[in-house]
Amino acid sequence: MPTSRHFHYIRPVRKVNARPLFFPRVSGILLRMKDRTAKIEYTLIRSARRSIGIEVTPDGAVVVRAPRMTPLRQIETLLEEKSAWIARARRKASARSQAAAAAPLTAQELSALRAQAKAYLPGRAAYYAQRLGVDYGRITIRTQRTRWGSCSSRGDLSFNCLLMLTPPEVIDSVVVHELCHRRHMDHSPQFYAEVHRVYPDYDKWHGWLREHGPVLLARAAAATKA
Ligand SMILES: [Zn+2]
Repeated sequence: MPTSRHFHYIRPVRKVNARPLFFPRVSGILLRMKDRTAKIEYTLIRSARRSIGIEVTPDGAVVVRAPRMTPLRQIETLLEEKSAWIARARRKASARSQAAAAAPLTAQELSALRAQAKAYLPGRAAYYAQRLGVDYGRITIRTQRTRWGSCSSRGDLSFNCLLMLTPPEVIDSVVVHELCHRRHMDHSPQFYAEVHRVYPDYDKWHGWLREHGPVLLARAAAATKA
């Protein structure tokens, strides 16, 4: 059973109805499940093991291993419980395979992105800070592999220069997120209420970043290694 947890610096907003539903059809050992947006097949392998294991292979396939006598209902309940983890693992697998095919960013490209970010981001921060009625300290532009932005307890902001490869709406969503930490240094419901008040489309563009961001981070990681 996978136990590792993957933390995104910007955490998704949990919605009660966002949980995928699984509709299995048994045919031999192949079961099918699907959520509202995509069909997810999984292969069930029963053997003399003692616990249920869920694996997402590098090509995104879901393999479930279970003891011979475990009721199907119990397996499906576990799949439902783990559906967010499965979706995340499949997104990562997909991003990794896309990244493997994507061209690494060159040092020149990264330096151009940093220059663009330095010219563009302070204006967006100033604009939204005024709308929120908050202040902030220094703005630092970095090339990071895991984070899109951060806000220190002193109010210094940092942004990933790779944001310049995303739509302007994504950039604004990250700017608003970090500035809202000037009011709430957590990801509480109050924090997200503030985010949505200033930026109603936050979930949509945050979703874009979750889907496409990993490829950009991988391209940068490939560049810094070279
Ligand atoms: Zn945050």
